[in-house]
Amino acid sequence: SWVRQMRKHTLLIVYFLIQTSLLVVAPRLVKSFIMSLLTIGTVAFDALETPYGKTDKIIGGSCTYIALSSAFFLPRVNVVAVVGDDFPQPYMEMLTSKGINLDGLQIKAGEKSFFWAGKYHNNMNSRDTLVTDLNVLADFKPEIPSSYQDCEYLMLGNLTPQVQIEAIQGLNKRPKLVVMDTMNFWMDVAMDDLKRVLTMVDVLCINDEEARQLSEQYSLRTAAKMIMAMGPKTLIIKKGEHGALLFQGDRMFYCPALPLEDVFDPTGAGDTFVGGFIGYLAKTDDISFENMRRAIVHGSAMASFCVEKFGTERLFEITEADLASRVNEFRELASF
Ligand code: AMP
Repeated sequence: SWVRQMRKHTLLIVYFLIQTSLLVVAPRLVKSFIMSLLTIGTVAFDALETPYGKTDKIIGGSCTYIALSSAFFLPRVNVVAVVGDDFPQPYMEMLTSKGINLDGLQIKAGEKSFFWAGKYHNNMNSRDTLVTDLNVLADFKPEIPSSYQDCEYLMLGNLTPQVQIEAIQGLNKRPKLVVMDTMNFWMDVAMDDLKRVLTMVDVLCINDEEARQLSEQYSLRTAAKMIMAMGPKTLIIKKGEHGALLFQGDRMFYCPALPLEDVFDPTGAGDTFVGGFIGYLAKTDDISFENMRRAIVHGSAMASFCVEKFGTERLFEITEADLASRVNEFRELASF
């Protein structure tokens, strides 16, 4: 009868729909879990002073900002870092609630977490480091949990170059992409180790002052050439409120920063930027120069949120819609 025919056809259509959606959705789902990102860096206490105010010890650290930013693009971000037993449990819960996996976070009994204090000048473009207390970081030996071994994207956040080397050596398989951040502090106290890590990474991300210090060149174009000859095939030079430059061989790309009405606290902007950069690359699983340009814009958009409030606060508030509309603002700002 026609009723039975109808039922048969409906069943066939439903069966067909389920099959195609499984074929389309399942690989994407699997991929989003496979493209795992591992980040190492500092999880710290920061005390900040800007023209807008002062904070006591708040949550900070390169790894914290990187993880919060990259977790925006990925279902899970794996962390390797160290804190003392003074680091509050609620902070850790805040991070795990954002998809950050802390299985690789060592907690050292009877020791203190890394502490950094900084003060910004009136123009917010430059800051003085007032205190760097390495504490637990002084004898940190990174241990990589076996569940992290499949990592395809490795982000070496700003920390002791020797520890960055040990993290690369601690992986059984070389990741598809290794991105590294560092700062003048390590150029001053551990230049030889720093030069060794440079030979082991794909992308280096530093600011203009650091690029000049590392290369001993004033022209950023010449500096880029010299730094790429030290190891990394790709170099990002951050220029704070003036955006960022991407270099690879003879290719160059420039992404402006979004001019904002109020900048409350630039702390962590660099880490948030690079976290967004690698998070976007891992999500799209495409490390071509063209895609790196898009990743730089996404990193810049994330950083533009970070500076709108003190510390990590703003990163806990923003939504995917906020990010999409900010990426659009960047598009309008620079396309012609
Ligand atoms: P950014 O403003 O992006 O340079 O990052 C600021 C963060 O870096 C702060 O949250 C600090 O805890 C962290 N930090 C400062 N100095 C160091 C250092 N020498 N090594 C690692 N992390 C640091």
